Amino acid sequence: MTGTIFGIQHFSVQDGAGIRTNIFLSGCPLKCIWCHNPEGISKTPLLSFVADKCVDCGACFTVCPTVHIRENNEHKLKRENCKRCFDCVKTCTVNALEQVGYKTTVDEIMDAVLRDKRYYDSSGGGVTLSGGEPMVQFEFAEAILKECKAKNINTAMETCGYASKEHFRQILPLIDTFLFDIKESDPVLHKKFTGKDNELIFDNLEFLLSNDANIILRYPVIPGLNDRAENLDFITGLTVKHPGISGIELMPYHKLGTSKAMRTGLTEQTVYNVPTDEMKEDMVKKIESAGGRMMKY
Ligand code: SF4
Ligand code: SF4
Repeated sequence: MTGTIFGIQHFSVQDGAGIRTNIFLSGCPLKCIWCHNPEGISKTPLLSFVADKCVDCGACFTVCPTVHIRENNEHKLKRENCKRCFDCVKTCTVNALEQVGYKTTVDEIMDAVLRDKRYYDSSGGGVTLSGGEPMVQFEFAEAILKECKAKNINTAMETCGYASKEHFRQILPLIDTFLFDIKESDPVLHKKFTGKDNELIFDNLEFLLSNDANIILRYPVIPGLNDRAENLDFITGLTVKHPGISGIELMPYHKLGTSKAMRTGLTEQTVYNVPTDEMKEDMVKKIESAGGRMMKY
């Protein structure tokens, strides 16, 4: 079984309990305007170019003159001509050109995962599927999770919730913890921010809750967009109403997605304000004073 991933992160302590290995699966049905991992939206690998690293050796111009061009004495890419063969990447000795995302197998992933097994066992950690949206490559995600379960490894999945209910039904027994994103309660704003309606997402959340899934709600906080009092109240209310939700994790906006989008030739992202410590503390106070729960490991 093969699939496409854009990274494996070892020794993560931020995506579920204990020490974890995060597998980033390519492909996402949403297009959040603040996306932190825009290079994970495409299901297929992307060509990354970092102009600051380029030493102008000319090698890629020779290999692929229809994409690598000079314009006003600057190295530009005509990405519309790129066939994503990544031959130019092989010629670049300074890593100014890189392939983001690659095909791999479940066996190769498990080799990487099993190297850290003793750390999972000593810390209560395990494997977290992330992305992108892992459910986009459902069969691949399911196969990795089955292997983890066969090896007695704790599993978590970060999800935007936008996938078929049938797939959630099938994957439920293989997942110890869902890190379930709630971005925006208002359907119109949700569509504006992510490109998709939130009805399916809330249906799936209800389905998981009614089937006793272990859920942590993740709230990406983007000042001026989804930090409205109504949205915070709604997310807080979910933890009040559903004792099965372990708690809320605030995921404050950061600007790293902007440079990743530029490198890979994706739509330029608007830069938003990064939430201050004071703003985050204020949100936590509001959640807790309204009877909501923050996630505590
Ligand atoms: S990935 Fe292939 S087609 Fe695209 S620029 Fe590089 S050599 Fe050319
Ligand atoms: S091969 Fe790399 S260093 Fe050479 S011109 Fe191309 S991007 Fe720049």
